[in-house]
Amino acid sequence: MKSKLMLLMSGLFMASTITFAQVQPTLKPVKKKADASKQSNVTDSEPAKKMPIPVKTIVSKPDVLSKKWVAPASELTFDALPYAFNALEPVIDQLTVEIHYDRHHRAYFNNFMKAIKETKAANMPVSAIFANISSFPDAVRNNGGGFFNHVLYWENLSPDGGGEPSGTLASAISKTFGSYAEFVKQFEDAGKTRFGSGWAWLSVDPSNGELFISSTPNQDNPLMNTVERQGTPILALDVWEHAYYLNYQNKRADYISAFWKLVNWKEVENRYTACEVASKAMKK
Ligand code: MN
Repeated sequence: MKSKLMLLMSGLFMASTITFAQVQPTLKPVKKKADASKQSNVTDSEPAKKMPIPVKTIVSKPDVLSKKWVAPASELTFDALPYAFNALEPVIDQLTVEIHYDRHHRAYFNNFMKAIKETKAANMPVSAIFANISSFPDAVRNNGGGFFNHVLYWENLSPDGGGEPSGTLASAISKTFGSYAEFVKQFEDAGKTRFGSGWAWLSVDPSNGELFISSTPNQDNPLMNTVERQGTPILALDVWEHAYYLNYQNKRADYISAFWKLVNWKEVENRYTACEVASKAMKK
């Protein structure tokens, strides 16, 4: 599982030039010798239609995420918001966006840079850091996650957002959850039931291309090796109180239901189609 995840992230984040021959030996080292009739691991119990995706399709090209996250962590920058502070009104008010971006998010970035300075993490892409986050100090985990998660969040919101997804993402959502409405319900539940501070996510499972919903505490994210199910996040919802409290006070559910009016589905679709393993899986 871990090797598959690393493989997917190689494709997603590093514009990798890994060849099939180079990575194949690490994929399933015992599979050829195993007696299939006595195997009970997950791979062998899956239906035949979930055959492994050819490695070439996973690592063949960079994608929308890779361009930003391929760099060594120490070279990452704190970029401008893609819209004005008041652009998300009335769903998210100007002061909330300003404080959230300019104080909270900026502090995560600054503290992440301090935490990795002159450490081995400085030269690693964040995807590789997250994939081994359990071996890093809490300051790297909390601030690295805080920095990365908020970039995804701001970019998957838009003043022109809302509506519903289209294309292969819409198909995948229907296939996975039964309907868009059911997806919305399950995603909202993930955000509403997260006790304390954290995030709700829609991610792609690198082992089979399937979509799944999860939530994480604090500033953790689905790329981290500490979560129950790892995946590549394509939609992020911040449910920390700082994301909504000025306007919604204790009514997190109202903030979550209003969130859909801002979702930049084009961005989410781009992230989804960049996960080639997901696109391939949908065609089976
Ligand atoms: Mn936040």
